[in-house]
Amino acid sequence: MIECLNFCNGQWQKPSGQEFKVVSPYNNEVIGRAYSSTPKDLNAVIDAAAQAQRAWRETPIKERSQVLFRFREILLNEIKEIAACISNECGKTPAEAEAELLKGIEVTEFALSLQNLDIGGRIEVSRGVYCEYRREPLGVVAGITPFNFPAMVPMWMIPIALALGNSFVWKPSDKTPLTSRLLADALTRAALPAGVFSIAHGGRETVEALLDHPTISAVGFVGSTQVAKSVYERGSRSMKRVLALGGAKNHIFLLPDADYELTSRGVADSFTGCAGQRCMAASVLCAIAHSPAEEKRIDQLVAGIVDEAKQISLGERMGAIISTESLARLQKAIAQAEKDGAHLVLDGRKPRVPKPYENGNWLGPTILDRVKPGSQAAIEELFGPVLSIVRCESLAEALKIQNSSIYGNAVSVFTQNGGIADYVARYGKAGMVGVNIGVPVPREPFSFGGVAASKFGQGDITGVHSLDLWSDVKKITTKWASQKDTTWMG
Ligand code: NAD
Repeated sequence: MIECLNFCNGQWQKPSGQEFKVVSPYNNEVIGRAYSSTPKDLNAVIDAAAQAQRAWRETPIKERSQVLFRFREILLNEIKEIAACISNECGKTPAEAEAELLKGIEVTEFALSLQNLDIGGRIEVSRGVYCEYRREPLGVVAGITPFNFPAMVPMWMIPIALALGNSFVWKPSDKTPLTSRLLADALTRAALPAGVFSIAHGGRETVEALLDHPTISAVGFVGSTQVAKSVYERGSRSMKRVLALGGAKNHIFLLPDADYELTSRGVADSFTGCAGQRCMAASVLCAIAHSPAEEKRIDQLVAGIVDEAKQISLGERMGAIISTESLARLQKAIAQAEKDGAHLVLDGRKPRVPKPYENGNWLGPTILDRVKPGSQAAIEELFGPVLSIVRCESLAEALKIQNSSIYGNAVSVFTQNGGIADYVARYGKAGMVGVNIGVPVPREPFSFGGVAASKFGQGDITGVHSLDLWSDVKKITTKWASQKDTTWMG
């Protein structure tokens, strides 16, 4: 049994709030426990973070980056052990867990590049007068993260915020808090000064105390839309800079000219990867045909996706659902879709369960065809390996359906026609667009973030558009006595 404590001023401390259990989705066994941070626990963490930040901000970025270089090396050396922890607590496969860590490492590499980028700038604006930009840290900033990426989502924030000279306080998911210990340990061994990185565990009350705390300057949040919106509102009320990423309902447009192999593999991987529990997962496939010949071709492409999905074995290529409650919710949504008139062409509700994980939360890939626009399966975020196919007669109809979603994380199009792909990129309501790619996560330095109810706040959470979340831009205008005979602005 792993015990999760707060990480305060470089020391592990037991918070005084309520105990909560961590359960593995593979077998529903209790694998760890953590404790909620009370306002007193949180104050201790934040006070230490503020104290440590004073020296950290005076440390040149080249020196700060040396810590992140060592952090990256440790993670690469220990990737298997960390991936095992991620997999065990959130249910994804070890290969998926490694992939998430590698994406976190990629963000670390982006943060490392900041030391070599001209993120400032100086120009002689008048004779003897110089204007200069400087990026300055904000102070103590915080990150609040969801269950489904215990390492990658926090690492969207931690390396960039630290490289820019902030102290970082992390509130991990209460469902998957175990991996946080390994990241704190790696940062400590990388010689990050005590207090610059901290962890405060807890749920809603801890989040609210964090959002109300006057010392916290900025908050990055990733989770469901309902909570993202309330975090954005509450944090903004206490004058914090907040970027809150929410849920998603991602559409794929399938055109009759799409490549068979790219489509079957790309769509099947998109809706089943991480057992559909990721904000970039395909959820609705708008299959577009406006003639019987096109419909025949679309039927072939759909059959290819179904065949590919049938080959996905649980425990090997696909992991488990986070909790018994989530599994029951998904089973109910599938039954409801059938009642709403959908054709169940692949039913994952009685899957072949991998041994020895008979007590885990398993749902096989599930495909619903002829789902009605406006029904639950077409509009709600289900967050599981369920693909809803909506038959459309035109691209305009598909775009109308996609644009009516409250969300706007990702949209993809599978076609060989560049004009259609460009049209979807232009008119799709999404922050991230894929062309013949089912999970269009941008690679760094391209930034990650959606639009509409998938994101509240300005900028993005990674890449070049994340810098304004964690830093201020100061403008300095200078003239020296030796230049006093020159004029400036008359
Ligand atoms: P969640 O909203 O339940 O929890 C996210 C975080 O908020 C956790 O740390 C949790 O402890 C805390 N929290 C939960 N309820 C709260 C409340 N009422 N007040 C304050 N804090 C609260 O999300 P989850 O179930 O952990 O994660 C799944 C959701 O996250 C999905 O909706 C998914 O789409 C979304 N997600 C989005 C992205 C993205 O980039 N847009 C990435 C990953 C996950």
